[in-house]
Amino acid sequence: MNTVAFIGLGNMGGPMARNLIKGGLKLRVYDLVPSLSAPFANLGATVCDSAQQAVTDAHIVISMLPASQHVQALYLGEDGILNKLAPDTLVLDCSTIAPATSRQLAQAAHRLNLDIIDAPVSGGTHGAAAGTLTFIIGGKPDAVERARPLLELMGSNIFHAGEAGAGQAAKIANNMVLGIQMIATAEALNLGVANGLDPKVLSDIMTRSSGRNWAVEVYNPWPGVMENVPAAKNYAGGFGVDLMIKDLGLALQAAVQSDCSARLGELAHDLYAQHSEDGHGKLDFSSVLKLVQKSPTN
Ligand code: NAD
Repeated sequence: MNTVAFIGLGNMGGPMARNLIKGGLKLRVYDLVPSLSAPFANLGATVCDSAQQAVTDAHIVISMLPASQHVQALYLGEDGILNKLAPDTLVLDCSTIAPATSRQLAQAAHRLNLDIIDAPVSGGTHGAAAGTLTFIIGGKPDAVERARPLLELMGSNIFHAGEAGAGQAAKIANNMVLGIQMIATAEALNLGVANGLDPKVLSDIMTRSSGRNWAVEVYNPWPGVMENVPAAKNYAGGFGVDLMIKDLGLALQAAVQSDCSARLGELAHDLYAQHSEDGHGKLDFSSVLKLVQKSPTN
């Protein structure tokens, strides 16, 4: 059976790795935080003390790390694992990072005869747990086909966007909309409540009207409107404000490089940055409602 090394077991990587184990795969897991990897021993996975140890004898490597610098350090750094992989190993980097970093990694991997795809995801932590993620992929068609059976254990939509880096380019465009949409939804709900509406009633109205969007319908930011969303858990878990700032930063960088306007993206970036400076960087991004609720006059 193919052995999978899974590196990065945070809010997304943890449930994704669990779904691979449920699908019958043999996993070797590693996270910088030992308390995140330890529970995998009870699930039959081999818990490793380093990324180097995790990739020993692995045929497939999956990484789910925060940002470009973590991915660069893991694969290409001084103790980078890329050189340690046997030829023909398949590498799936599911982190959301700069398209240029994915292209740099793909070039290095191809020189070593490795198959590689950038496979960032959409669908949030509930999609990761339910195995219904959307994978947005860049890479060579053969590598995508080789990865497909694994992706199907973790997700229900698989899009091949183009060559190396194309998955990231599509993902950051998507997340720019998400970041803007969450602030717009928080502002609309706050306005409605300030004018006497019940936030649940307003959410139901918007969900069936032209204000319908993913934030109001699936990931509502107002506490008490929905169960099983970060807003119901004091904004714990989910998709961190600092990760949203990172994704909007990647989108803005791409916009400058391609001479595109992204004025709302820029405004959203600045509002999340302000929210992070207020001490909320580790909360889920739907907590931006707290920023919206601060009166503009003080
Ligand atoms: P997270 O911070 O919860 O998890 C990242 C994990 O990587 C942490 O546990 C950290 O300890 C580990 N890590 C960092 N460097 C490492 C290294 N060198 N070796 C081993 N482990 C290392 O983040 P997350 O929410 O799981 O997000 C991961 C990626 O997925 C990010 O790029 C994010 O933008 C993207 N993403 C997140 C969501 C979401 O809803 N949380 C949705 C879609 C995409």
